[in-house]
Order: sequence, then C-alpha cells, then structure tokens
Amino acid sequence: MLQLSLEQTTRRALENPLLRTRWNVAGSSTKRGHQIVISGSDKMKNRDDGQALCVSRAAFERADGSETRGHDKRLLISDYARVRDMTGSFWRSHKPTGSVHVHLVELSDEEILGALVGIGLAAYAFRNFVRERDEKDAQVQLSISKDKGPIERELIDTAQAIATGMNLARHIANLPAAVANPDALAKFFKKYFGARPGVSVDVWGVDRLQKEKMGLLLAVGQGSQWGSRLVHLRYRPGGKGSSRRRASETRPLAFVGKGVTFDTGGLDIKPASGMRLMKKDVSGAAIVAGLCDFVSRARLNTPCDFYLPLAENSVSDRAMRPGDVFLSRAGHYVEIDNTDAEGRLVMADAFDVALTQSKADAPEALVDVSTLTGAMRVAVGLDVAGFFSNDDELAAEAEQAAQKMGELAWRMPLVKKYEKFLSSQFADFKNSSDSGFGGAITAALFLQKFIRAKDPRAEREIPWLHFDVMAWNNSGDGAMAEGSNAQTLQILIGMLLRRA
Ligand SMILES: [Zn+2]
Repeated sequence: MLQLSLEQTTRRALENPLLRTRWNVAGSSTKRGHQIVISGSDKMKNRDDGQALCVSRAAFERADGSETRGHDKRLLISDYARVRDMTGSFWRSHKPTGSVHVHLVELSDEEILGALVGIGLAAYAFRNFVRERDEKDAQVQLSISKDKGPIERELIDTAQAIATGMNLARHIANLPAAVANPDALAKFFKKYFGARPGVSVDVWGVDRLQKEKMGLLLAVGQGSQWGSRLVHLRYRPGGKGSSRRRASETRPLAFVGKGVTFDTGGLDIKPASGMRLMKKDVSGAAIVAGLCDFVSRARLNTPCDFYLPLAENSVSDRAMRPGDVFLSRAGHYVEIDNTDAEGRLVMADAFDVALTQSKADAPEALVDVSTLTGAMRVAVGLDVAGFFSNDDELAAEAEQAAQKMGELAWRMPLVKKYEKFLSSQFADFKNSSDSGFGGAITAALFLQKFIRAKDPRAEREIPWLHFDVMAWNNSGDGAMAEGSNAQTLQILIGMLLRRA
C-alpha cells in the first residue's frame, strides 16, 4: 500500500500560484521574465509564442464556436466562463514557468475574475506520483496587473478562494482510493478544517453510526476494512471574520456529497471498464468539502452545514448482499436490489442527519451532489450536470448560477409515476428500479423519499436540489487537465455568492 500522507500530497497540490502572487505590479516594472498580455480587445492579435491572448467574444467564436443557443439562454457561455476557459487553456498549453508577469487589458470585473480563476485552475495538475516531475512546474513567481487602476482586493480574494476550493475538490477525487480511504479522509478533513475560523468538524465512526441507527451508510461500508464514516463540517459566519450582521437569523443551507471512496459495485460487481475510474465516486464529498473551503476562505455570511458520508463499496464475505434488508436512520426498511446502487444509500442516511438538526440549525434547503447514475450520463453526456428539484425557485437559482459560472446544467423531471419501480415485497421499498429505463429519475425518487420522510404532516417538503454528475474530464478541457473537474462546485459557489 502507498505510504503517503494525504496531508503532504494535498498541501503540495494546493500550492496555487495565486496564493503567492504579487498583485497590481505595473507591467513595465518587471522587465525580466515571461510577459503575458491577456486582452479583451479585438484589436490585439493572438501570438503563438505564449506572449499574448485575446479573450474577446469574437476571438472565442473564431477559435471555438461551440456555444449552444436557444434553450432560454441557459446554455450560453458567460463572460466569466469564456475568459476562464480561454486563459486556462492558454496557460496549460504554454506552461509558463519562472518569473511570469500577466497584464490584463480591457477586461470587465467578471472577465478579470475568469482570468484569475483560469490561471488558478490551470496551475493545478496531479503530479504526486510522477517521479520525474519537473520541479520548475511548481515554481512560478507570478505578478499580475491591469490597464486601468489596481485589481480590486475583493476580486483577488474571491478568485483565490474559488481556485483553492476547486483544486482541493479535484485533488481529493484524483487521489488513489488506497490513499483517500474513509478513515484517512475523515482524519484529513479534521486536520485541514480544524483550525479554520468559523468551521467546526465532527467525525462519526462506526460506533456512533450504529448508535444513530444509520443502517444504510453502515451497510455500504460493511464489506471494507475501513467501515463507514460521516464527516460533518459546520460553518457559522460571524465573530471576528465577518463584518456583516444578521447571520444568526439566517437558517443554514445543508450540503451533502456522496463519498464512496471506491466503488467496485459490491457483489453486483462492475465490469473492468466500469470500475476503472471508480476512485472518482468520492467526488460529491470532495466537491462539498471544496465548497466548505471556499465559503470559509471567502468568509461568506451564509451559515452552511456540509455532510460527507464516506464508505468504500467493497467485495468481501462481509459485504451486503442482494436481498438483504437494512433499516435507515429515517425508519424505513430498504431491500437491496442491487449492491451497485449504493450511493443513494449513503446519501439517504446523511440526508436524515441534515434534516433532523434542531431549531436554529434546521436547514432552509438541502443540496446534494452525487456521482449517482450511468443513466444520467446516457441522457445528457459527460459535460452536463443533470439535476432534480422539488422547488422551482431553488431550481431557477441553480440554473442562473450555472449559466453565470459556466457550468452546463439541465433540470430533469421527478416523475412520480415511476416510484412504483422501487416497490418491494419484503421491505418498505428497494434501492434500485426493476425497470431498465429512467434510472437517474428512479435514483432521485429514492432520495426524495428521505426528503419527505421527515414530517409527514408538513405541507411541503424542504426545498431540495439534487445533482447527478460525472465530475471527470477524460481529457484536458478549458482550464482543467484530465482528471477530476469538481463539476457543479462553481454552480454552488455562484449560488452562495448571489445570496451573500
Ligand atoms: Zn455503485
């Protein structure tokens, strides 16, 4: 087994050049080193020597032209996303090293944010296990200036927080499952967020999960040497960090991320091709942790709770079997129809923890991110995050944030009629559908049972948003290299920035 400290590998991976950039340094004062101009003006011509990049909409149309029109403008590319992807792609192809000065010309604030985040994302590459890695890669002395006046401090802080949160999420999903197992991850989060202002960390091990009667989360991890964990990251603004008021009157938002650190499929084992990338099944938890990183660095005024149910879905003599029945924390008996439909099990029990917080900690809405179904990939492909919601306002909020932050997302229907496919003769219901169709919908309907379970007398369910994502680039794309792309994290960031 790899004897590597998760902390060490992560610290190195997060050495983001934005964090040690000299800002607002006039271009002319740094004559030596690599000079790059990023310009929104069409008058500037691109050069292929890595010295200049035109990021205007016209330049994008010429170079790419892949924008999707119509669809109520929901799939258009925003200024932020266009400049992020063009700058990031330029950065990845030229790999500037040493002393680098970037001068930003004729860019709006939104475009400047895009350029900075693009550089931050492009600078991350997973190199921990590449022995012959070029040490110079990590050694960029970056300075950045713009044409008119200084770059605003708030833009710099936001860009740094976005890039670091994104890179943390990407890094966790890129790590081999032997390193990022449930136990190591829980310990890592405790340490990583332990001293962060406004954040408290609670880890539930197997004993506590048993006391809490979290039969579904325990079932998924029971075949693995690590057992299951639940990490709860609690962010409350205020104190010294926050200048704004009213934080205590706002109810928190709850975020839950699927953290299956490796998914063999269990006894319903996956074929080799389907298992190859399954270290990425931790992506939901990685994204939610990345969001906590962003929220606490940016010191947002919205209280948030982040829940990371962690388990490895292994093959062993102790693994859950098809036909087994487990009792969920919410009190439903669930029959295992297919052991590979494990993500919804870990999520369901974590939902219940989020929804049973008392009084002031009771969430206003619940948002989850899961690498849940292949069916969603069949429906919308790898680049689009399919999502479901029981609340039109929350869905519209997600759509607006997705458009602004340049992540493609599309709302799917919760077709109640399909609930019948989850019915079971031996339990309250089962964990996967006996219809071969609409698998992303029946997965969402399974999760919805745990949204509605809380208070049967309540007139409406808690507003809920469920993302079913791929979260992986099979090859480099825009600002990001091959590997984890933390899909939807920027949508969640956009939603929180709008509320801030
Ligand atoms: Zn699975």
